[in-house]
Amino acid sequence: MNKNSLEVNGGRLWDTLEASGEIGKLRGTGLRRLPLSDADKQMRDIFCDWARKAGCEVAVDQVGNIFARRPGSDDSLPAIATGSHLDTQMCGGKYDGVLGVMSGLEVIRTLNDLGLETKRPIELVVWSNEEGARYTPPMQGSLAFVGDLSLETVLSSEDADGLRFGDELRRIGYDGARPLGESKFEAYLELHIEQGPTLDRTGIDTGIVVSGFKSHGLRIQVTGNTAHVGPTPMDERQNALVGAAHLITAVDAIGWQHHPEGGKSTTPFISCFPNLPGIIPETAQLTVDFRHPEPEMADQMLAEVKAAMDAAAAKANVEMAIIDSWTFGDNPFSDICLKALEDTADTMGISYMEIRSQAGHDAYAIGKVAPMGMIFTPCTGGVSHNVEESIELDKTLNGVNLLLNTMVNMANR
Ligand SMILES: [Zn+2]
Repeated sequence: MNKNSLEVNGGRLWDTLEASGEIGKLRGTGLRRLPLSDADKQMRDIFCDWARKAGCEVAVDQVGNIFARRPGSDDSLPAIATGSHLDTQMCGGKYDGVLGVMSGLEVIRTLNDLGLETKRPIELVVWSNEEGARYTPPMQGSLAFVGDLSLETVLSSEDADGLRFGDELRRIGYDGARPLGESKFEAYLELHIEQGPTLDRTGIDTGIVVSGFKSHGLRIQVTGNTAHVGPTPMDERQNALVGAAHLITAVDAIGWQHHPEGGKSTTPFISCFPNLPGIIPETAQLTVDFRHPEPEMADQMLAEVKAAMDAAAAKANVEMAIIDSWTFGDNPFSDICLKALEDTADTMGISYMEIRSQAGHDAYAIGKVAPMGMIFTPCTGGVSHNVEESIELDKTLNGVNLLLNTMVNMANR
């Protein structure tokens, strides 16, 4: 790396990641830190403490997003922001989201070590409920921040046990006063592990994200009728679970059909009622997810899934309806950030590749209100949303240093 480039303290970043890895620890190497859980509260408390000790003002907004701000020499200017999430999947890893937040913290700590003041403020954000593992949709905090979800919608959403987001947020003490969308960003840069195998396989440590895969998510309700599993004739049944099963295989087939061009589809969630041995299921709920590098093809997959719903419903003699839907990834990336990242990487003398993002990220939502860019770093074997998720510090540091140097460059413009 060029000797004039700034460098973070890798050992300290690692220690911070390890400390986070103790909170909500699962199966030795992983994390279960569901949003608004006790573990989430504990992590948030520690993060706020770290941020204040690093000289930041800390504010919390009405959906629990945390904003840690390091003042600039001209503090009236909008901040250069970074951030990610501290919540995890049900069986998640230690780095998904966490690396982005702790890298942002490391940027601020490094600036403090060096006694460097930036012209614009630096702001580090922890977005509430990115994963959607407890409350849907995913990326709730960032979507609410940009106005794509209303405050009321977020606060009234319920988890599987009927616990409301608003009540749980109050319970953990993160029902902040700051109105949604109050922070103004000059630009937003998010660092994240790739969550796929490209960087790990090519051996290039740093990915600069140029665009996303367009993604659609659907929540589908299947409605049949309860009946006795014995006497009811086969041709008189309305088995909701059978309708769901037909749809699951059809959705999988749609993914395989688009596989040559990089399309994919999944039915990651199903529930069934009453889900008991002696009774034909009355209702089932599914979540269906599909993604494609070409936005028009993702939309075509949506049409194909809708046709598959009609066919599956007819075959099982049940009703099917979409009761919720979301979409993201329709290229929210900014040329301003892309150029800033690539120019900085060139000056630093680090090698990088342009890469596409296939997962959802808070950055996508922020792209609606500010120029946005992302940096990817490798995760071993591309494994993510798994307790075995792992990273290597020396393959991560170029990306974190790129975040540091680009933020400083942009903050001094
Ligand atoms: Zn993530």
